[in-house]
Amino acid sequence: MEWIKKELQQIKRQSLLRSLPEIEKKSGARIKIRDRWLSNFCSNDYLGLANDPRVISAGQKALSKWGASACASRLVSGNFSLHLELEEKLAKFKKTEACLVFPTGYLANLGAIRALVGRDDLVFSDELNHASLIDACRLSRARVIIFPHSDINALERKLKNVRSRRRKLIVIEGIYSMDGDITLAQEILEVAEKFGAMVYLDEAHSTGVLGKRGKGCLEYFGIATPPKNLILMGTLSKALGSQGGFICCSKRMRDYLINTARSFIFSTGLNPASVAAALQALEVIEEEPERIEKLRSNIAFARALLKKIGIKPGPDPTPIIPVILGGNEITLRASQELFQKGIFVQAIRPPSVPQNSSRLRITLSAAHTPKQISSLANALAEFWESQ
Ligand SMILES: *Cc1c(COP(=O)(O)O)cnc(C)c1O
Repeated sequence: MEWIKKELQQIKRQSLLRSLPEIEKKSGARIKIRDRWLSNFCSNDYLGLANDPRVISAGQKALSKWGASACASRLVSGNFSLHLELEEKLAKFKKTEACLVFPTGYLANLGAIRALVGRDDLVFSDELNHASLIDACRLSRARVIIFPHSDINALERKLKNVRSRRRKLIVIEGIYSMDGDITLAQEILEVAEKFGAMVYLDEAHSTGVLGKRGKGCLEYFGIATPPKNLILMGTLSKALGSQGGFICCSKRMRDYLINTARSFIFSTGLNPASVAAALQALEVIEEEPERIEKLRSNIAFARALLKKIGIKPGPDPTPIIPVILGGNEITLRASQELFQKGIFVQAIRPPSVPQNSSRLRITLSAAHTPKQISSLANALAEFWESQ
């Protein structure tokens, strides 16, 4: 298997080699790597809920009551009342009729999209969609038509150009995972309606983040009830501080997914500790909207500091701030220099982002202190000036 060595060498030559950083300890937004404590600016724990004592305790209780695993697919013997309780709560949170929880967000995308469209159907996919959405579209074997990022006119043109009676699905994200900008949900929903298309909205990063009460895109855009042609997807593993994915939809769609989404049918039910942790996290979000406020003030503070040092933080105030450096090598170097200054931000390179757009992808959390955010800005300024 000499070829593996060659492949790895090739990856390394392009400064694209990836390795697993070992986190030795974790305390809120601080992590210990190679015996050093660092401020973590690349976690998706936007509300600081993963280490909340109530969330941890809920997980522990569920472990004792239900065991460490669901031990079977939901359809066999792994469907606990706890799963149904979470689904009910998520449906209420997103104002949909029903919800179906999957083992991860990745699997929710694979399973749902493959169930929604098949051979000869059409998918209209935003060019910046997450890898899990791209994989899901490929797996579905539908014809995939990629449209320029959030370009509503281009999308409309492409919809107009197809003469097909088959199903049409527009796939977009709420907050784009690598650029941090917010979707044009309202406009896209209108265009979809006009052309009889369904809309699949991945709210991995907008759940718990957008809207006054963190309900996501619809709340943010003031859309009171989810349109009938909309399928909402989200993950429990970001702002909810747990693990697992979900689809919020109609009761009928839920029945359909239970019967057709292969990643749901052929995978063990989500483990009880994660289910209970997510349930508790939802409670905390409902009871403490000030967490969302704290996240917002951290975002505003970080954006102001970055602007001061000449870094443009992107169009929308979201917790994802890309600092695009372009080359792979310079981005790696920036990440390493920040590490030396006690700041942990990963270098994001292709294929996570397009060629020549490598970046530091900064993510903010309600758990960050203003002091940590100032240190981040100072470290970035020093790197910037040294270039
Ligand atoms: C993280 C992410 C997912 C996958 O969610 P997991 O629960 O981590 O598997 C899906 N879509 C987007 C846009 C994401 O950022």
